Amino acid sequence: MNLKPMNPTKNLVFLFIFLPLIANAQRDWAAMTVETTELAPGIHRLFVGGSVSVIAFTGEEGVLLIDAAYEQTVPQLKAAVGALSDKPLRYVVNTHIHGDHTGGNLGLGEGVDIISHHSVKDYLGTERTQGERVIPAFPVHARPNITFSHELDLEFNGQTLQMLHLPEGHTKGDIIIYFQEGNVLVMGDLLFADNFPFVDVSNGGHPFGYLENLEWIIANYPADAVISGGHGPVYTMDELAAWRQTLVETVEVVHEAKRQGLSAEEMKEARILEPWADMGRFFITEDRWIDTLYPFLPL
Ligand SMILES: [Zn+2]
Repeated sequence: MNLKPMNPTKNLVFLFIFLPLIANAQRDWAAMTVETTELAPGIHRLFVGGSVSVIAFTGEEGVLLIDAAYEQTVPQLKAAVGALSDKPLRYVVNTHIHGDHTGGNLGLGEGVDIISHHSVKDYLGTERTQGERVIPAFPVHARPNITFSHELDLEFNGQTLQMLHLPEGHTKGDIIIYFQEGNVLVMGDLLFADNFPFVDVSNGGHPFGYLENLEWIIANYPADAVISGGHGPVYTMDELAAWRQTLVETVEVVHEAKRQGLSAEEMKEARILEPWADMGRFFITEDRWIDTLYPFLPL
């Protein structure tokens, strides 16, 4: 029997690189449930797999969804929407490019208008490679067919939905949607409630732009708005402001450590973000948040 000890560093590297792929391949999609919560009359939050938020807006004219979750969770998403309304699906709005928000377009998009920032249509319509994997372009029915550059107002089911592009935060093409009459603000992944946010730098995201977008939102929407992010619990405006403030504090801690000459690796080693460990439990860990911030902080 070979009792040679394994090299722990090598195993950690293996886990770091391959765990997301393994997790994705082994995900039990059918077991993912959808939890429905009413945010305002006709506006429901469908929380898919305890992780991704979809908003369903129902009324006389039909159903509008904001984000579509994964391709694999379309069956349970359809069932959850069906429990709210027997009207046809008319619109899907994509807040941004990522597959946990756009994947469902593939199963929902036939005969439906899909609305997004124009850069989302370009992205989904282009073949991409992710490491070794080739991800084909979405078929036409799953791509946005109504796009805009800055803002778009949609009158539907007796409400005005104000859609606004907020670039250089989470990605370059994120939009937020405000239901004027319902006073519900849908922020997509410009809000990872209770968690460190994912800033997709390779797709035009920027950590400082992210914080600026939050500041702008806090200053420009009603203090009593109901706020739904792409991930995490529903927030009040006060909670959104507190979350932003917490992120600013973590940026200051990382910045100060960099000024003192610590490398990103040394910061992780020293666990300088340990007081905020709870925020690293979802997707962006303490270490990944340090890696996100470090290159952008001046000395
Ligand atoms: Zn995202």
